[in-house]
Amino acid sequence: MYAGQGRVEVGTVPDPRVEDPTDAVVRVRRTAVCGTDLHVVAHAAGLPEGFVVGHEFVGEVVDTGPGVHAHRRGDLVVGADFTSCGHCWWCRRGDHWECAERRFFGTGSAFGPPLPGAQAELVRVPHADTVLQPVPDGVPLDVAVFLGDTLATGYAAVQRAAPRPGDTVAVVGGGTVGQLTSLAAQACGAGIVVLVEPVDTRRDLAAAHGAVVATPDDARAVIDRLTDGRGADAVVDAIGGPRGLDAAFALARRRGTVVSVGVHTDTGWTLPVARAFTDELTLAFAIGDLARDAGPLLALVRSGVLAPAVVASETVPLDGVPEAYARMAQRRTLKTLIAT
Ligand SMILES: [Zn+2]
Ligand SMILES: [Zn+2]
Repeated sequence: MYAGQGRVEVGTVPDPRVEDPTDAVVRVRRTAVCGTDLHVVAHAAGLPEGFVVGHEFVGEVVDTGPGVHAHRRGDLVVGADFTSCGHCWWCRRGDHWECAERRFFGTGSAFGPPLPGAQAELVRVPHADTVLQPVPDGVPLDVAVFLGDTLATGYAAVQRAAPRPGDTVAVVGGGTVGQLTSLAAQACGAGIVVLVEPVDTRRDLAAAHGAVVATPDDARAVIDRLTDGRGADAVVDAIGGPRGLDAAFALARRRGTVVSVGVHTDTGWTLPVARAFTDELTLAFAIGDLARDAGPLLALVRSGVLAPAVVASETVPLDGVPEAYARMAQRRTLKTLIAT
């Protein structure tokens, strides 16, 4: 739980329970620490002390309200990182993020009314029929836990970039989302994927799993060599902010596509509009959506084509979470899983 500016601690809160007919309560088996958690805890945007953080989870349904029909007690499920009603105009289109019922687990009030998070033994899940997806037999917990946020995000980036088979895709940033974007692009038919990252160990990880790697300084030269000087067909910004967008634009070819999945908090950024016009660039943004993409994501992980667990650095018990946050914040680890 949040314990004041920059700190988390382990404590006891009342057990969550079914409050609305469409709620479920899930006993969390695996959860994870995300860059978003580090950001929320460091900046504490409206977070009360004692608030349970975390939004990536897989576990077992232990209770359901009378309005839950898709899941029953004992089912193994993975949760989306945000809630949506499943039946409004947006949800029916598959745009669950736009739902008026959106609440983001464990992050305060930035993306909807606060909803206690999943780095806990139990979590209450509103709109359980839409938010929870069944985990099929044979999908390990350490794989399923990626589906709700980071893998869904990487997959959404690739879908938005829509590379043609064989296209060169550049990924700016080798954090968890960047790494999973690289894997998703490879699984979805891209040709060469170039991951751009300053930290050696993160480049090594991407290189071990199919990417060509480059430092920010040599990225354009590496991509030029691979594309006869054209630039990347699609570039995914997995950093965010003006820095991520500028880096991504610098790598895109004429008529190329830039997709940003990095988190943005700046209100503005100078679009290089003359070039964007002359080169007919496409700029898009994407947010992961498990409720929309669970079908293809589960098919890709079940078949082994997409193997997200390779990015996990360590698995810790709940008692070890405060130290694990510190290691991640110091970039000594990339991604921490929590076994509850
Ligand atoms: Zn996350
Ligand atoms: Zn809705």
